Amino acid sequence: MLFLFFHYSIWWFVLTVGLGLGITAWGAFDIRLGYFTDTFYRRKHSRGKVIALTFDDGPTHYTEQILDLLQRYQASATFFCIGKQVEKFPELAKRLVHEGHTIGNHTFSHSPWMGFYKADKVLVELQEADSVIEAVTGKRVKFFRPPYGVTNPSIAKAVKLTRHQVIGWSNRSLDTIIMDEDKLYNRVVRKLRSGDIVLFHDTSQRTVKVLERLLPYLQEEGYGLVTVDDLLTLHAYES
Ligand SMILES: [Zn+2]
Repeated sequence: MLFLFFHYSIWWFVLTVGLGLGITAWGAFDIRLGYFTDTFYRRKHSRGKVIALTFDDGPTHYTEQILDLLQRYQASATFFCIGKQVEKFPELAKRLVHEGHTIGNHTFSHSPWMGFYKADKVLVELQEADSVIEAVTGKRVKFFRPPYGVTNPSIAKAVKLTRHQVIGWSNRSLDTIIMDEDKLYNRVVRKLRSGDIVLFHDTSQRTVKVLERLLPYLQEEGYGLVTVDDLLTLHAYES
């Protein structure tokens, strides 16, 4: 009898945990599945040809080269920064804001376990990143992009409290996964539509190389490169 109970409870455990993980994975699958009622991931009716390039996970050594390139092509972009990285490279965070780019929150530590955090822990991640960014740049940011695009009830609850605006993407470069520069470039260009928010990471030389081709192409095609707040007509900072 005892054995039977044990046997059943194990299977019940496996079933519940399995189901839980499945739901988490499903929620993580696409930011557009929507735990947030108002996640922005593109501008639907854009006037003229406009694109918002976004860079996650910086600042890093590569951010400098990306800022140089953006400057050369008079392009603006949005950087979703990790608080820890802002502490490491405060000058780059200052520079990107100074040069007219937008800075947003991408949590303090970008933990791979974030999807399993309770709301209070997510809240700390958001608040710590906010305070580092404010201390370094003087900006109180309103934009938040969840790491890995993971959305779940805990993250939704925390964001409701901090009142961040959640920003997704409509064109994912997969620049942390695809190693081949040609493939990466073609993937972005093939799917590109006006009003897109394009997801890149300022964490590799590969991305810098792709931008060296992408920026002149976009200029030739007549695309305006704007910040997310410009694209969506939103305020990026608390006044
Ligand atoms: Zn990230």
